[in-house]
Amino acid sequence: MKKNFKVSVVLPAYNEAQNIEEMLRQLLPILKKYSAYEVIFVNDGSKDETLSILQKMHQKNPAVHYVSFSRNFGHQSALRAGLDYASGDCVITMDADLQHPVAMIPQMIDAWLSGAEIVNTLRQENSNQSWLKRKTSNLFYSILGFMTNIHVPRGAADFRLLDKKVVTALKKTTERNLFLRGYIYWMGYKQVFLPYQVAKRFKGQSSYTLRRMMMLAWSGITSFGIMPLRLASVLGFITTTVGFLYACYVLYMKIFTDMFVVSGWASVLVSVLIIGGIQLIIIGILGEYLGLIYLETKHRPSYLVSQSTLSKED
Ligand code: UDP
Ligand code: MG
Repeated sequence: MKKNFKVSVVLPAYNEAQNIEEMLRQLLPILKKYSAYEVIFVNDGSKDETLSILQKMHQKNPAVHYVSFSRNFGHQSALRAGLDYASGDCVITMDADLQHPVAMIPQMIDAWLSGAEIVNTLRQENSNQSWLKRKTSNLFYSILGFMTNIHVPRGAADFRLLDKKVVTALKKTTERNLFLRGYIYWMGYKQVFLPYQVAKRFKGQSSYTLRRMMMLAWSGITSFGIMPLRLASVLGFITTTVGFLYACYVLYMKIFTDMFVVSGWASVLVSVLIIGGIQLIIIGILGEYLGLIYLETKHRPSYLVSQSTLSKED
């Protein structure tokens, strides 16, 4: 079993000025039990005092570091930056708002010491999360499971421990629009899941609005499969079959009976509208994927750093 190892804790922070000091007050006593540690806050273009507080904290304790973005690049990019800069033998990512209990850290490290390469956590449903958030999150994981072959368990969050070799592998991916939750699952390795109770946000407000959650959900679905594209073939097949059956019916009536079948224009109108609608939807989906390809081919970095107390590990 490893004895001397370094623990890195990565915390994305967007407007978390009120939470940082409390976070460190709870986190540091736990980390001090290990032989070496570092805490890396990723300031994701906060508009409040987050950066100046981080500068102050770094002066107080040189093991508390920060990487400050040039603007807001989003939670997933902040996580990625934290992993890029972390140098620990294991790296823990967690929220900076105290929703992820620091008390879980020793348990996660123990699981890692007993051989797990990725220690995931699973949020147990409780009332500290809003009803809407719980329902939309469950719905999302069901759709994701259906649309892709990535079966991320319900309640998975970006609160996890990664072994150094997983971090190294992760750094090598050049995918810009990375959906970490699915990607980690896709990576394989020896993974375990630990349940935890989500706490209430210490101070401030969640920055994941419904719109942002939907964007994250869409990026999760599109980055892991082409099922929406396949929908085109399926719908096309169905409408063609229906059209063909209808044509058979009309022909039969015309040839074998003397009934008048060319009755309403309503049926024509309805089918034109439906097929037109389906076509527009499919073109939209094609466009979405085309857009994603376009964004990826530009090879833009996922984030830009304006200042930092660390240099990037290679
Ligand atoms: N966060 C970030 N960039 C953003 C939005 C959020 O780095 O653009 C951070 C935030 O500071 C927090 C974590 O991501 O540490 C989770 O965000 P939040 O608490 O707003 O989401 P929720 O817990 O409600 O899902
Ligand atoms: Mg939160």
